[in-house]
Amino acid sequence: MTDRRLAQLARIPVCELAGVGAKRSEALAAVGIETVLDLITHYPRRYVDRTREAAVADLKLGEEALILATVKRVQSRRTRNRRALVEADVFDGSAYLRMVFFNQGWRSNQLKAGVQAAFFGRLEAYGGRRQMTNPTVDLVGDRTGRVIPIYPQSQRVGLSTWELAAAVAEALERAGTLADPIEPERRQELNVIDRTSAFRKIHAPETMAAAQIARSRLVIDELLRLQLALVLRKRAYERDARGLRHVVDGDLLDRFVAGLGFELTGAQQRAIAEIKADLAGPHPMHRLLHGDVGAGKTLVAVAALLVAVQGGHQAALMAPTEVLAEQHGLGVRALVGDLSLDDASRLGGRRPLSVAVMTARTTATQRARILADLAGGAVDILIGTHALLEERVAFASLGVVVIDEQHRFGVEQRATLRDKGQDPDVLVMTATPIPRTAAMTVYGDLDVTVLDELPPGRTPIITLWVRSDIGAEDPQTALPVAGLTGDPYDRVAAEVAEGRQAYVVCSLVEDSPRIEARSATEEHLRLATEVWPNLRLGLLHGQLPSKEKEAVMADFRAGAIDVLVATTVVEVGVDVPNATVMIVQDADRFGMAQLHQLRGRVGRGAAKSWCFLLSGSSTPEAEARLGALERSSDGFELADVDLEIRGEGAVLGTRQKGRSDLKLASLRRDKEKVAQAREMAFAIVDADPGLARSSLLREELDLFLDREESDFLFKS
Ligand code: ADP
Ligand code: MG
Repeated sequence: MTDRRLAQLARIPVCELAGVGAKRSEALAAVGIETVLDLITHYPRRYVDRTREAAVADLKLGEEALILATVKRVQSRRTRNRRALVEADVFDGSAYLRMVFFNQGWRSNQLKAGVQAAFFGRLEAYGGRRQMTNPTVDLVGDRTGRVIPIYPQSQRVGLSTWELAAAVAEALERAGTLADPIEPERRQELNVIDRTSAFRKIHAPETMAAAQIARSRLVIDELLRLQLALVLRKRAYERDARGLRHVVDGDLLDRFVAGLGFELTGAQQRAIAEIKADLAGPHPMHRLLHGDVGAGKTLVAVAALLVAVQGGHQAALMAPTEVLAEQHGLGVRALVGDLSLDDASRLGGRRPLSVAVMTARTTATQRARILADLAGGAVDILIGTHALLEERVAFASLGVVVIDEQHRFGVEQRATLRDKGQDPDVLVMTATPIPRTAAMTVYGDLDVTVLDELPPGRTPIITLWVRSDIGAEDPQTALPVAGLTGDPYDRVAAEVAEGRQAYVVCSLVEDSPRIEARSATEEHLRLATEVWPNLRLGLLHGQLPSKEKEAVMADFRAGAIDVLVATTVVEVGVDVPNATVMIVQDADRFGMAQLHQLRGRVGRGAAKSWCFLLSGSSTPEAEARLGALERSSDGFELADVDLEIRGEGAVLGTRQKGRSDLKLASLRRDKEKVAQAREMAFAIVDADPGLARSSLLREELDLFLDREESDFLFKS
């Protein structure tokens, strides 16, 4: 008999298993398990190690614990306010414990006398009796064995964890030996076990160590599939020879660099050289640019735009939001404002470089004009949101697209542009550094350039986390390091007295620029009347008309405003080296990357700078974030901490959605495996570009990738 392939298991519905009738297969379908493959890749959420679980008699109050016990008695009733109340007394051989469930009337059906279950909760005392309130419960059935797997989501659909285990066991039994795409020699190199054993051991391990060994193997499988997809995509891009060959040695870029008034850092020079090499070649560029806040990414991105322009093409810069698009408009104009281009049709033979910004705020008339100029080639650089890719936006010749952060510029967008007869080079830029493993996973189809060097002359920023809730009652106790800093508001006044400037960043209001604007307006009023009546305050938020925003920023840059009260519109692009203090209010509401980015608005000159993170009540997670920011100013280090705190879901974002099957792999725990899988993927693809000789891998990729993706990888 030949070995069973995953693709075959994906074609067998679970109802073909002896133990799975109509009712169970319905319950399984409710948690997304329809085929035998779904079933065996529904991995245990955790395990109960019988030799290690706590004894009820030893538990201490307040302690969280997992106990394995038998239900002795159950009673259900209603509380005075008509809530369902189920109480179960359980016994584990050492002592009795009461489990109390509110609003879970169905527990009286689940927990019958004699049933064995794992309970996880916190030990508390109520009226002198030891109990757990609303613990998680997993029915384990009458299981023997030392290690019992606990499956996710089983109880929600009325399946006990042991019923699931039984179905999995039968499935694996009947599947027999599974075909293994990783050869024995390679398994040995990687120090992983074969696939068949891995599936058996992850579902029914004899020891916890065996479960870990099984997990390692299956993680490699998941990561290898993902990396294969990314590497295939990368190689497919590189095969595509329809890109523009840019003229990279014109003098526009040289004039730009010469006009900067400072030397490029070594990292910037390397980055620009890499980009130029990409642009000169026949393949469209697909490159990621990241680096720490203040490393000078904007400048590198602008250099890429200018290479397109000097060769007679156009360039576009896409930002994730309208506000950021406007910020970039300001930033880019400030950088290239004085440049001019050859133009034989003009008197004097030159015309100024033309930068247009198109956002939702652009009026219909302005828009019509920009579109006409764009089609006629009179606009050199267009800045806006994703709307730039819309149907009616037609470029005369789009050469380079720079995409700012988090955008998925994938197959679809490329197809849209190709349909318009364009095939631009693409540079993806993120505002903050990303951890290496995350970059390999999220942007593994791109070439990567890291700006790992800050321009010289920066002084580290002193960051202090100030508890504003305590401060409200007694300003003295609000100071984390007494005597070192003084009150944040005093510090602002002192810096202004020295001729410096300050930012006050107001609360982040999720999804509501209007409320945000209102709170910034109120804060501006409060600060202007109660705190700094003698200072010159300015107000900046996303709801102001563009003209007004530009005027405020111009005043701030010119030093006519001492303190800028702003929403997060200052996050990116704002660059005033004379600003040396920032106060961030409700800092606990911001993400780590965002705070690091905000903080990067100060410390841009040689003077000592300060960042005060004010926060009232906050979650442990927010405290971990603020503490990390206080300790470190290294964006790469912070990115690692962020990954640790938030987990990969948040970091992977939507870019991987629909094309990965990472059920077990963790970017934090499996860093080394990510790199191993990537290396293996390159070796496989480079030896066998269409995976013609690795039909099993190819079949598995087809299985786990979505249709569009695999069409692109294998048929283009
Ligand atoms: P990033 O986008 O990477 O956070 P920016 O591009 O906004 O950083 O640059 C930060 C500041 O550093 C800007 O004021 C920029 O003009 C300045 N800058 C960039 N490169 C250099 C350099 N090589 N030397 C001195 N200052 C630089
Ligand atoms: Mg920037």
